[in-house]
Amino acid sequence: MNTVGSQPIVPFLDLKKRNMYYKDELLNAMTRVTESGWYIQGKEVEAFQQEFANYIGVGFCVGVGNGLDALRLIIRSYIKLGKLSKGDEVIVPHNTFIATVLAISEEGLKPILASPYLENYNLDTSKLRRYLSPKTKAIMPVHLYGQICFDNRLKAFADRYNLLIIEDAAQSAGASLPYKKSGNLGHAAATSFYPGKNLGALGDGGAVLTNDEQLAKMVRALANYGSSSKYIHEWKGLNSRLDELQAAVLRVKLKYLDKENNHRRIIAECYNRKINNPYVVTPCPHKYPSAHVWHLYVIRTPYRQALQQHLNKYGIQTLIHYPTPIYKQGAYPELANQHCSITDKLHQEVLSLPIGPSLTAIEVNRVIEAINSFQ
Ligand SMILES: *Cc1c(COP(=O)(O)O)cnc(C)c1O
Repeated sequence: MNTVGSQPIVPFLDLKKRNMYYKDELLNAMTRVTESGWYIQGKEVEAFQQEFANYIGVGFCVGVGNGLDALRLIIRSYIKLGKLSKGDEVIVPHNTFIATVLAISEEGLKPILASPYLENYNLDTSKLRRYLSPKTKAIMPVHLYGQICFDNRLKAFADRYNLLIIEDAAQSAGASLPYKKSGNLGHAAATSFYPGKNLGALGDGGAVLTNDEQLAKMVRALANYGSSSKYIHEWKGLNSRLDELQAAVLRVKLKYLDKENNHRRIIAECYNRKINNPYVVTPCPHKYPSAHVWHLYVIRTPYRQALQQHLNKYGIQTLIHYPTPIYKQGAYPELANQHCSITDKLHQEVLSLPIGPSLTAIEVNRVIEAINSFQ
């Protein structure tokens, strides 16, 4: 690969550059926590939960250890509250990141993998009926690559069959339909503050979002040793808490989330408009531009390996999200029979281009030129 020192000329993701914009504010926030002497479940977590709940427009936000735990805690809480039971089936898109499916199976429920659309990579809401059984109790739309996966069909399907809608909003912080943000579209939502996500901490973190007070209380207790007051343990819980340092960092980063998402949107629009190569299919935009926050910009090409090598030569780093479908992973032999040809095609053809708040116009043009020169 063409490099400057050991760095590619256009890195896929430059986390250091992204966070250095806010260096002084981040250091101030971390100093405030260090000097407070209080590092777990204190004022920063409380303030961040309130600020993030206000931003999303939900009644409750519970900070937890990471995105996977957020998903698991929602399911575990619904089990404790009697709304889900072990063995229930949950419809989930085939082509998601493995965490979504792990949360379901680790809590003793059964993932039913559903086909995505080829055009926008999200759950195909016109085919949901075929995955329904008397055991179906929930559906988990994933706002994949930052694009909201929610429409009237999905809502009507969930209402008609009395299914819980649990959003996996790990990739879609800030994405919004005209009146509602991702994280406020179903009964509960999980999000992740993994450093590479649109709202990224300087370490692990996650949150559960909901308007359901009972659920929020249960999640809060289960995430804290199954306890709602110290040394009283009503449930067998786990230890999964957002810590004060990460909460303080996230309070800084939240202020810039919309600005960063707008920057991503401008890059995506530029790619969509200017990438013009007969071997490359650009992602189909959402009818509401605000409904996509472009966590990833994912193209499709039948010549993926050759294109990736071509871009490498120009010093442009690309990644594949995700190279192997879940039903072909060693971890899930029990899902091996859930074949899906659209999923197979996606996993063979998708390629993620550099996108993010620190990418410059020069870098974006370099990517476009390199792609357009691919033969
Ligand atoms: C990142 C991610 C998760 C898990 O989040 P972690 O904080 O890494 O545990 C879950 N679902 C999706 C779609 C993700 O991208």
